[in-house]
Amino acid sequence: FDQVVPKLCTAVDSNTQDFYELDRVLGEGAFARVYLARGRATGTEYAVKVVQKVPEELQFIAVESRIASTIFHPGIVRTYDIFEQQNELDIVMELMRGGELFDQIADRGRFSEKDASMVMRSIVQAISFLHLHHIVHRDLKPENVLCKDSSWPLVVKLSDFGLASATEDKINDGELIGTPGYVAPEVVMRKPYDFAVDMWAAGVILYIMLSGKMPFFGKTDRECLRKIATGRYAFPPRQWSTVSEDAQSLIRSLLQVDPAKRLTAVAALNHKWLCDPHTCCSEPL
Ligand code: ADP
Ligand code: MG
Repeated sequence: FDQVVPKLCTAVDSNTQDFYELDRVLGEGAFARVYLARGRATGTEYAVKVVQKVPEELQFIAVESRIASTIFHPGIVRTYDIFEQQNELDIVMELMRGGELFDQIADRGRFSEKDASMVMRSIVQAISFLHLHHIVHRDLKPENVLCKDSSWPLVVKLSDFGLASATEDKINDGELIGTPGYVAPEVVMRKPYDFAVDMWAAGVILYIMLSGKMPFFGKTDRECLRKIATGRYAFPPRQWSTVSEDAQSLIRSLLQVDPAKRLTAVAALNHKWLCDPHTCCSEPL
């Protein structure tokens, strides 16, 4: 069969099922299904992402497996094994028992500034590592940030490199890639873009953590994308009157329509609200 990721597979001629016993479905995205799995030799639990080798997606699958198998960072979900079969690719990952950041926010409604600041710091640290290695994630959202378990303080890690790209140049493919609601204005406008798109998405994630609401929304994707293109969002007092000016200032610096004016990951880590939570959070730590 057509092998997409020749040298990266640790076990080209064997099946995932030889080594892992697949159990229930943990989650599903637009491209894959993820199962709870147990290593046959040790009983250790893992998560196995099964990606169908759809011909049009082969390019993405090859990039995903290359990135997943080479990036090691405490803020990024670790990949242990990749099996390529005729019709699917199985990515064996560390199990993130706490599930999606999305559900953690939904459960609480919103996070305190202290909690949001800590989670945001981990997210931005992981993004800065990716960007240092010329990797743009392109699909950051609370569904792709996973929690090690459900206990607080939350330990979060970035996941899902299904739309990632490794490049030193600007990307100029004229494609609307990502998820409506999180996609950056320059992508909506089909302009050349780079790492800054991840920082826009980080701004959207922070807005959601602090308010439980999306900054950009619409009855249709079109309406949502139109608002993004012009950076039209608000801080309604109902959710935001109790949120500190420092937190709002970080969001404003990330949701900058002009990518050249948007904070980079390193600059965001130096923002007062992220680097000095003792002095800027409105509640005691
Ligand atoms: P897709 O590319 O289809 O979006 P993802 O890699 O995002 O696939 O996985 C889909 C969902 O599966 C995630 O949103 C999450 O709920 C769950 N999931 C993915 N990886 C893990 C993991 N390592 N541990 C636990 N759940 C996971
Ligand atoms: Mg996903």
